[in-house]
Amino acid sequence: MLPQNIDLHCHSNVSDGMLPPAEVVARAVAQGVTVLALTDHDDVAGLSEARVAANELGLRLINGVEISVSWGTHTVHIVGLNIDPEHPVLAAGLATIRAGRSERAIKMAEQLAKAGVPDSLSGAYQHTGNPNLIGRMHFARYLVAQGLVKDVRTVFKKYLVKGKPGYVSHQWADMADAVNWIRASGGQAVVAHPGRYQMGSAKMHELLEAFKAAGGEGIEVVTGSHTPEQYPHFANLAQKFGLLSSRGSDFHAPGEGYRDIGRLPPLPEICTPIWRDWNYQ
Ligand code: AMP
Ligand code: MN
Ligand code: MN
Ligand code: MN
Repeated sequence: MLPQNIDLHCHSNVSDGMLPPAEVVARAVAQGVTVLALTDHDDVAGLSEARVAANELGLRLINGVEISVSWGTHTVHIVGLNIDPEHPVLAAGLATIRAGRSERAIKMAEQLAKAGVPDSLSGAYQHTGNPNLIGRMHFARYLVAQGLVKDVRTVFKKYLVKGKPGYVSHQWADMADAVNWIRASGGQAVVAHPGRYQMGSAKMHELLEAFKAAGGEGIEVVTGSHTPEQYPHFANLAQKFGLLSSRGSDFHAPGEGYRDIGRLPPLPEICTPIWRDWNYQ
């Protein structure tokens, strides 16, 4: 078999990426990706368009999603791979999260107005590709477009994070529920970018134990959100907890600070890839 370039985490403008699903697929093909999972936040509405493009261009598309979860005081993202986007239990769960996002956006805009940034609700919506899915990135792009902040990275230092204007604490899905929805629809659940959570070692162990107990199967080891030093660390944790390893760029937009699609090193040797038992043919 030819070497595969497998990227199992990226976003389109159905969530907070900038490219339409078909363009995400085209970009993946141009970057040499052979297997791609589109994993929009809390929505699967981009998968049908992505599939048409993938079939035309000869790319193997994995149906994916990235579910926002609250675990204690932490926000954690759980990626679902090989889900059935039509599954009613999954669809209903995701719809509830999206409704919560719309309510959070209203509160975010109220806070930003108090901090001297008017009209950010309509402004943020202008940056969405899908009015049912609004998030902090859309507000961030609005603040940049208004000339208030130089780039999105700086927005996430001065605004929209704990203790800064525009941050609204929010209750996302329960972790066990999210894993159950993924599994009910035939998918595998993967902890996204564990290195991004501000957790000490004991908390991370607790998270992975709870995730395993809920039926979770994988963990992202090589992701655009990890430093190269974190790859062996999370490879070891994957081994310790008997989790399969995943690899994904978390691509959002050209030049927006994340890794480009497919541009990642391979998984460390000790990892068992989550795609090990997938059928490529
Ligand atoms: P939300 O799910 O609406 O709270 O928004 C989280 C999204 O904001 C992530 O998926 C990223 O796309 C984006 N983001 C970029 N930088 C940061 C950061 N430093 N902290 C949190 N989110 C960030
Ligand atoms: Mn995002
Ligand atoms: Mn994420
Ligand atoms: Mn992501």
